[in-house]
Amino acid sequence: MGTFRALLSEQGADRKVTSTIQTLDDSRLPTGDVTVAVDYSTLNYKDGLVLTSGGGLVKTWPHVGGIDLAGTVFSSDNPAFRAGDRVVLNGYRVGELHWGGYASRARVKGDWLVKLPQAISAKRAMAIGTAGYTAMLCVLALEKHGVTPARGEVLVTGAAGGVGSVAVAILAKLGYQVVAATGRPQEADYLKGLGAAAIMERKELTEAPDRPLLSERFAGVVDTVSGVMFARALAMVKYGGAAAVCGLAGGASFPGSIVPFILRGITVCGIDSVMLPMTPRLEAWTRLATDLPLEKLDAMVVDARLDDLPGLAPQILKGQVRGRVVVDVN
Ligand code: NDP
Repeated sequence: MGTFRALLSEQGADRKVTSTIQTLDDSRLPTGDVTVAVDYSTLNYKDGLVLTSGGGLVKTWPHVGGIDLAGTVFSSDNPAFRAGDRVVLNGYRVGELHWGGYASRARVKGDWLVKLPQAISAKRAMAIGTAGYTAMLCVLALEKHGVTPARGEVLVTGAAGGVGSVAVAILAKLGYQVVAATGRPQEADYLKGLGAAAIMERKELTEAPDRPLLSERFAGVVDTVSGVMFARALAMVKYGGAAAVCGLAGGASFPGSIVPFILRGITVCGIDSVMLPMTPRLEAWTRLATDLPLEKLDAMVVDARLDDLPGLAPQILKGQVRGRVVVDVN
């Protein structure tokens, strides 16, 4: 029996969460058939919720957050894994209902683990994280609905955030003309460096459309924001185009109209990364290994340690974190 280091979170009577680094006995690890020596985790929007208020996502406290982890199998009772395998885990409500990646050791179900493609290190797997893997799922959804570079521009909302940054880099590598919508125009050079062909200021999309159809412009949309931005983006999707929707950084409801669906035959693809079955998960990780330029991924990374997380969590909820935070948990 050993010990491990963890960022342990506790919710107070006022629902405010406080987190401290502690050394815990292995007997505190949750049930599971694979124990992972964690190298890196990351910070996603959902992690920000867990670390500040719990966001209604955590049922029992104390808790170890971190919806993503990457590392090496330490021991396994699952025939699909053995000690030394390099693995990544995204979602399955790990970091919410089950202790997650903000610890040097995690115990999980082998069914939740993906073996890392050879080309992706543990650190880069966390630079990708749930945000980047979700960006890939969005791109795959657009492809499956016939969106190709030849059909025209693709809009990415919340472009300087985690999902947005990775989506911009992948789409640009695949040859799309990417329009990056951001509320941070000071990040224009960063977004162009990732491959954006044009920058659209958020304010151009924050006025509710005064008519159900605006001029056709986008072959596809990757939406991480929802709200008015999404309603306006939908009204600009070209005939037969598609929008992949994954996020609600701007609110859960949107003032949209049915008209773009029935007059322009457009499709909205809902993206869930958390409970996605293994086959499309593996497809996404395989495509990430080839379609995400690694030097662009490295340019998105902010390095952090476990004790930085309580300070970073409110920042990601306010949309102040650029790109991807990679957390060295050791
Ligand atoms: P980030 O905070 O990194 O990015 C969100 C971006 O949205 C911000 O950087 C900002 O971009 C923009 N934004 C923030 N607040 C507002 C606002 N009030 N109005 C308009 N734009 C805003 O988060 P992630 O990229 O990690 O996640 C993005 C969203 O996707 C979240 O809602 C998250 O919960 C969701 N998500 C869903 C998944 C799924 O499985 N469906 C998986 C992963 C994430 P900018 O400054 O460029 O405008």
